[in-house]
Amino acid sequence: MNRRDQFMHVPRKSGTERASSERIGDFEEYKERFSEAEASTQASRCMDCGTPFCHVGETYGQVKIGCPVYNLIPEWNLLVEQGNFQEALVRLQQTNNFPEFTGRVCPAPCEGSCTLSINEPAVSIKHIERTIIDIGFEKGWVQPRIPTVRSQYRIAIVGSGPAGLAAADQLNQAGHQVTVFEREDQIGGLLTYGIPAMKLSKDVVARRVRLLETEGILFKTGVTIGLDVSLDQLKADYEAVILCVGATEPRKLLDVPTSGVGYAMDYLTSVTRQLLTGQPVQDQHEMKGKDVLVIGGGDTGADCVATALRQGCRSVVQFGKHEMPGTVRATDNMWPDTPNLYTLDYGYEEALAQFGRDPREYLIAIERYTTSETGQLTGVWTVHNEKIRHPDGRIEFQAIPGTEKYFPVDTMLIAIGFSGVEQDVLRHLAVETHNGKIKTTSYATNQEGVFAAGDARRGQSLIVWAIREGREVAEAVEHHLRALQQTG
Ligand SMILES: Cc1cc2nc3c(=O)[nH]c(=O)nc-3n(C[C@H](O)[C@H](O)[C@H](O)COP(=O)(O)OP(=O)(O)OC[C@H]3O[C@@H](n4cnc5c(N)ncnc54)[C@H](O)[C@@H]3O)c2cc1C
Ligand code: SF4
Repeated sequence: MNRRDQFMHVPRKSGTERASSERIGDFEEYKERFSEAEASTQASRCMDCGTPFCHVGETYGQVKIGCPVYNLIPEWNLLVEQGNFQEALVRLQQTNNFPEFTGRVCPAPCEGSCTLSINEPAVSIKHIERTIIDIGFEKGWVQPRIPTVRSQYRIAIVGSGPAGLAAADQLNQAGHQVTVFEREDQIGGLLTYGIPAMKLSKDVVARRVRLLETEGILFKTGVTIGLDVSLDQLKADYEAVILCVGATEPRKLLDVPTSGVGYAMDYLTSVTRQLLTGQPVQDQHEMKGKDVLVIGGGDTGADCVATALRQGCRSVVQFGKHEMPGTVRATDNMWPDTPNLYTLDYGYEEALAQFGRDPREYLIAIERYTTSETGQLTGVWTVHNEKIRHPDGRIEFQAIPGTEKYFPVDTMLIAIGFSGVEQDVLRHLAVETHNGKIKTTSYATNQEGVFAAGDARRGQSLIVWAIREGREVAEAVEHHLRALQQTG
């Protein structure tokens, strides 16, 4: 009989991490899955609270609750606790097409909504999820599911990120003929060229792509829709087209030096391309012996810090505009909302071990750049700000006198977010947009038979949301196909 008070006796554990000093020497994954025994012990911390918020997956105003794909978390926790990993895998695959991705890199909003997390560390949901699927692959329980009956409908999916892959998986399993078009040389979208290999091994992505291929999905790489093949051509050749083209138009920083400045995405992509193909990175993406500055306090910036460390940078700092988050929830960020708390992400932990300090600088602004005679960036003068909240809700940043500081910089990477779908992609596809994203009604665009999902529709987000959108757009396409069938 399971005791539902195990959380009172068993402390939370996450997966074992390789030592910082060791892991910055390579691009291998930095974390290992639980052993079966560890996973069972950790799953026993789930108190089966009766009204679980962890799997709700909804947004109420600004408050985001639980797992966006509605993973059946308490159910698989119980099965894992009982040592029944095979049945846990069956439950997991009912809701999540790619748990090996989310189990590694999801920020786990489920854990922020775990009832236990009101006053105790949450259940290690994400890492249990990873352990279930990794064991599933290791033991050969994940096998190709090849549809036995095929419909006459052909579906074209543009973009092979998690949204495109999830939609492809759903529609292929429903028996339709699915082709995925990708402009890059590799399938995976940001799973491949974006998220660094030490967080998500490219072998893990390739393993899933091979499985989808065996199940009947056709992948065409090196094809840019809008350039090599027009959208009109796709509409003529396929009964439905789904645009999952992502949202990687970078926010720009104006008036920067002409040399020594680059965009985070270009940098991360070229380093991963080097790992996959051996193609050397350009000088501007080689950080060995350099002083590196990352602008932007988010996760993309954190990935740049970790990547620069692996290349052997001399120093690395990351500038953020906002204040340092607290270690306890603020009153406007209470459970079950996703917590905004100070954490030492993997790259920061590594920088701390390497250079003795957390690389993040908060509430900081660049006053001016210093450059060489050739226009090459050599450093930045900065000032720390005070964040002032006015009674009418306005927020203002005011420089604090006497806080001026100089940082030597060889390379500055801009990681201040994304404004929407890439401008070039939108120009060539010519679908209606809103605020830089593709405008849809129930996932349908303004063009007959053309749908959109993922970051291209909702803006830069998370893998788990892309998977949910992929699943939902597949349902919308099913409705469309049924309507086609009825009209003859
Ligand atoms: C650096 C970085 C790190 C991140 N880390 C995390 C993380 O740790 N955890 C997490 O949950 N989320 C993370 N994210 C966010 C997450 O990766 C995205 O939300 C997710 O990948 C979106 O999926 P998508 O399928 O909508 O688009 P994408 O993954 O962006 O895929 C879009 C694909 O469309 C292709 N494409 C575009 N136009 C065309 C065209 N005209 N013809 C053919 N192909 C085209 C692109 O080449 C690309 O492969 C990160 C994002 C970045 C940038
Ligand atoms: S997909 Fe993300 S939110 Fe859902 S259970 Fe896994 S870690 Fe939690």
